Amino acid sequence: MYPVLDYDKCVGSLACYEVCPADVFDTEEKEGGKKAVVSRADDCIECEQCVDACPTEAIELVD
Ligand code: SF4
Repeated sequence: MYPVLDYDKCVGSLACYEVCPADVFDTEEKEGGKKAVVSRADDCIECEQCVDACPTEAIELVD
């Protein structure tokens, strides 16, 4: 599994980027400011820390 971000909910806290132990995320300038992006989906170890850390519940793990 790997994380998918809902950019309608994402507020750019970068909590997922900071918490991820597997370095799955990078940051990127997007409309509305800097946001996390999934760059290394294959490295996800499914710990769900990003899901728990996100303040707006913008992340889910998908197959
Ligand atoms: S589930 Fe864990 S390893 Fe996977 S992206 Fe989220 S924080 Fe990183």
